[in-house]
Amino acid sequence: MSYQIALIKGDGIGPEIVESTVRVLDKAAEKYGLSFSYQSYPAGGCAIDLTGEPLPKETVEGCLAADSVLLGAVGGPKWDTLPGSLRPEKALLGLRSALGLYTNLRPARLYPALKDACPLRADIVAKGFDLLMVRELTGGIYFGDRGRRDGKYGPEAWDTEAYSVMEIERIARAALEAARKRRKSVISIDKANVLETSRLWRETVHRVAEDYPDVTVEDMLVDNAAMQLVRNPSRFDVVVTSNMFGDILSDEASQISGSIGLLPSASLGEGKRGLYEPIHGSAPDIAGQNKANPLATILSAAMMLRYAFDQDAAADAIEAAVDACLLDGCRTADIADAHTERVLTCTGMTEEVIRRL
Ligand code: NAD
Repeated sequence: MSYQIALIKGDGIGPEIVESTVRVLDKAAEKYGLSFSYQSYPAGGCAIDLTGEPLPKETVEGCLAADSVLLGAVGGPKWDTLPGSLRPEKALLGLRSALGLYTNLRPARLYPALKDACPLRADIVAKGFDLLMVRELTGGIYFGDRGRRDGKYGPEAWDTEAYSVMEIERIARAALEAARKRRKSVISIDKANVLETSRLWRETVHRVAEDYPDVTVEDMLVDNAAMQLVRNPSRFDVVVTSNMFGDILSDEASQISGSIGLLPSASLGEGKRGLYEPIHGSAPDIAGQNKANPLATILSAAMMLRYAFDQDAAADAIEAAVDACLLDGCRTADIADAHTERVLTCTGMTEEVIRRL
C-alpha cells in the first residue's frame, strides 16, 4: 500500500517534530509493508518570508493532491505584528476550509507513567481516563453573522450561532463512527435548556443515533460537562459538541492530561484525507535546540494511519511504542522531573520510539 503525504513543517519546532515523525513513519512502513512518499510545502511564517502570504496556492494544491497532510505548527513572535490577514494562523483556517475539514478529533488520555503531571486529585487520577473530543469545526458562532450597532444601552456588538440539520448530522455521524472504534459511548454536549440551536442539535443527534443501536448516546449540558471533566473524566468516552463549546472543553481536557507535548489531533472532512497535527504551538522558546517533545506529532501520525489509511495495526504499534517509552522512563524536558530523570533530546526520544516499534 503506498500513500502520498503532504508535510507542512511550519515554524519554530515544527521542522524538528515533523522530521522526527517521518523517521517513525518510515520504520512503521518497513515493518507493515507500507510505502510513504513525502512532499513538503510552506505555510505559516516561513511561507510569509518566502512568498509574502501565509498559505501559498501551491501548498493548497499540494495538500489537495495528497492522501493526507501532516502539520507541525505555525506562528511565532517574528510575525506577531503583521495585520490579521497576513498572520501565520490564517494558514490553518485556510487549509481547513480548502480541505473541507469540519470534524476535529482530539483524544485526551492519562498516561499512567505521567500521572504526577495530572493536576487532578489523586483519587480521580487513580481511575484514569481516555476520551475523544469530537468538535464541529466550520459552523456555529465562529462563522455566523456578526457586527456592531447602536443598541438600547449605546454601542453594542453581536454574533450569531446557527447550525443546519446537515451540519449536525455529519458531525454526529463522525462521533458515532469514532465510538464504534472505541467503547461505544457518546456524550453529546449542548445548552438545550437555553439555546434553540442546542435543541435542534439534541434532536438531530438522537435521530442519527437510531442508525447506531450498538452505541449509547447521552446528553449533557455544557456547564455540567465542564464540571464533570475535572470531577469524573473517566465517565467520558466520545464527546461530541459544537465549535465554541468544543474549543473550550477540548482545552480543558488537554490540560487535565498533564502535557500538551503528548496530545495529537485530526481534522477530517468527507472522504479519507485529513489534516493531522499536534495540539501545541510552535514553541518558539525552544525552537532549533533539539529539545522539543516529538510525541504529539508522532501520535498524530498514528491517527493518520488509523483514520486516513485504515492501517490500524501500524497505528496501534506506534501508540504502543510511545506507551512503552514512557513506561521505561524516557522523557523530554517538558515532561521530565529535572532532578531525577535523564532528559532526552527530540532526536533521542524519536530513536527510543523507533527502537520499540
Ligand atoms: P506553544 O504550545 O507553542 O507553547 C507553550 C509552552 O509549551 C512553551 O513553553 C513551549 O516551549 C511548550 N511546548 C509546546 N509544545 C512543546 C513540545 N512539543 N515540546 C516541548 N515543549 C513544548 O504555545 P504559545 O507559546 O502560546 O504559542 C507559540 C506560537 O505558536 C504562537 O505564534 C501561536 O500563535 C502558535 N500556535 C500555533 C498552533 C498551530 O500551529 N496549530 C497552535 C497554537 C499556537
